[in-house]
Amino acid sequence: MIITKQKPFEKILEMTQPYDKVFIVGCGSCATSCQTGGEKEVAEMAGRLGEKVVGTAVVEEPCDLRLDRRDLKAHREALKEADAVLVLACGSGVQTLADFTGKIVLPGLDTCFIGETERLGRFYDRCRACGDCILDETGGICPITRCAKALLNGPCGGQVEGKCEVGEYKNDCAWVLIWKKLKEQDRLDLFMKFRPPRDHSKKVLLTEVILR
Ligand code: SF4
Ligand code: SF4
Repeated sequence: MIITKQKPFEKILEMTQPYDKVFIVGCGSCATSCQTGGEKEVAEMAGRLGEKVVGTAVVEEPCDLRLDRRDLKAHREALKEADAVLVLACGSGVQTLADFTGKIVLPGLDTCFIGETERLGRFYDRCRACGDCILDETGGICPITRCAKALLNGPCGGQVEGKCEVGEYKNDCAWVLIWKKLKEQDRLDLFMKFRPPRDHSKKVLLTEVILR
């Protein structure tokens, strides 16, 4: 799930201040689960912004143009009237709505990470969508996400008793976790495998992916 948090209301006020007519779009998927952009949060936001809100809608998945087309069909007139669209969804939803509406879009949420959910309000950063997954080699623990320096070849000199120097030794060192997991699985040979530095130009090419 894409984990989001709502921007401070003062920031949203500042963003919406130049516009007289604002349409609010929420997300029926991830942002609903995060309690940052579902029906309830959209209604609350509309109440707080008051008269300048010309309409609201919650799209099943605002990051999907087909669902924007379907769920915003009934709101075409209000959207046309709006000077700007305040989006309570992740950055992908905001950009898709920019393409769909052609309007000025305002992000009401900050997108944090692709996360694991323990319970509502408690999420863990688990993936940065690097485009070259190596979880098969790392015991199912992502070093890019969970190592503070995104190291690919084992721990740095900053780990002390399994804790990471970044964040004052509160968090586990990802590479110690990886070592323990690989040991448990009797696959420690993978720990010694050399991984060359990432070719980040690959990521640029991945800005558009076509799956057949
Ligand atoms: S290696 Fe980590 S960041 Fe890359 S795809 Fe796998 S889980 Fe995501
Ligand atoms: S201590 Fe471990 S988690 Fe922290 S930066 Fe070094 S290798 Fe990464």
